[in-house]
Amino acid sequence: MSSLNQTVQDVFNEPGCDKNQAKSEKERKKGCTKQLQPGGAAGGCAFDGAKIALQPITDVAHLVHGPIACEGSSWDNRGAKSSGSMLYRTGFTTDMNENDIVFGGEKRLFKAMREIKAKYDPPAIFVYQTCVPAMIGDDIEAVCKAASAKLGTPCIPILSPGFVGPKNLGNKLAGEALLKHVIGTVEPEQTTPYDINIIGEYNLAGELWQVKPLLDELGIRILSCISGDARYREVAWSHRARAAMMVCSKAMINVARKMEERYAIPFFEGSFYGIGDMSDSLRQIARLLIERGADPELSDRTEAVIAREEARAWAAIEPYRRRLGGKRVLLITGGVKSWSVVSALQEAGMEVVGTSVKKSTDEDKDKIKEIMGADAHMIDDMPPREMYRMLKGSEADIMLSGGRSQFVALKATMPWMDINQERHEAFAGYHGMVAMVREIDRTLSNPMWEQVRAPAPWDEDAPDWQSLALAEAPSSEAA
Ligand code: SF4
Repeated sequence: MSSLNQTVQDVFNEPGCDKNQAKSEKERKKGCTKQLQPGGAAGGCAFDGAKIALQPITDVAHLVHGPIACEGSSWDNRGAKSSGSMLYRTGFTTDMNENDIVFGGEKRLFKAMREIKAKYDPPAIFVYQTCVPAMIGDDIEAVCKAASAKLGTPCIPILSPGFVGPKNLGNKLAGEALLKHVIGTVEPEQTTPYDINIIGEYNLAGELWQVKPLLDELGIRILSCISGDARYREVAWSHRARAAMMVCSKAMINVARKMEERYAIPFFEGSFYGIGDMSDSLRQIARLLIERGADPELSDRTEAVIAREEARAWAAIEPYRRRLGGKRVLLITGGVKSWSVVSALQEAGMEVVGTSVKKSTDEDKDKIKEIMGADAHMIDDMPPREMYRMLKGSEADIMLSGGRSQFVALKATMPWMDINQERHEAFAGYHGMVAMVREIDRTLSNPMWEQVRAPAPWDEDAPDWQSLALAEAPSSEAA
């Protein structure tokens, strides 16, 4: 079995992923890929998932081995922020052409690595395998091994061709590459009983920086964040942490679980969204650290910080709660956000009329039921027409979703706010919760909505185009 097949099978057998464990052996072998319906917008491929998961490591050169379109469609599609090196934002690709496909792209790959070393001298070069080199049989593991020896810089192969599966699988393949080639290869200068890893946090819009000051205040050190605002050596010495928090649901469950298995680092799954969840996460971090040798007084200090921050956050949210109380939200997102944002919205006094669970795990769904009750409206796959109908029929006052669904809300002339990874606002921690509530209030009360809903002066007597379109569209039941 090739190294790639072995890694993919390994990920499908991941005991921490209950979705895979619930499948028969035959189904597991088939993988997670679901055939897309013609016309349906595709999510990212496995390569895209791997790149998203690792690109926030800021001082590494991320080299995409493949045709230029692979890098073109994945470059900088998330707003992960850096407090130092900006090398991660430079797009490197081997830009394979027809000649390479006929004669092989290994030499071209080696030359690209040599050029990167000469021009940038990064602490490591991450090499992403895409569909074309995987299909023509380029052995990127062998090229990376030879380049590491020749250049004196770790060259890390990320086996993630797009055809092996969806984005989520790519996240895990990225984790496998870290486990195999990076984690455990460097020793930190010093360790303390207060060292933690944060796994699956990408510092989108600077969200890690909304949480870090509180950890600093408590004397808790982020030994390694995988991978938001990370440096290569921080990831390489992450095996010395005392405890870990896994942030983004199951995206990197394999990293958290295997680090527990190999290095005895206990972990918990938590969220930084919402006041209650943020407090729970701080408590869990303190609990795990105390279990691993930190002074028990950490617990009292943590409770004091939680009490102070909660009081401040509630006071800041109170004026908005009066304005937002009872407003209905349609939440179209996935994974950990399908429940963590629900609790944050409820804290702001809003009613969640539906939350999408297409990309959520069974555990995510259980958490939603816990928060919203047994009759929670969980949406498996809502077609755009149904979203439009809900918004137009005033069943929801605002939609929170990713950029792809925004046009549905805008066509229905209803407020919409970006909640996914492309957004520019940071919503983590206590301050982030206040910022999220403020943004929702600004979006809902924008006077623009009244204006765009009013017919144009020359159209006042004619029915508007949306009513005509709705009247002509087949009903969703008939569709
Ligand atoms: S599916 Fe393959 S060819 Fe398309 S972007 Fe992903 S890696 Fe590149």
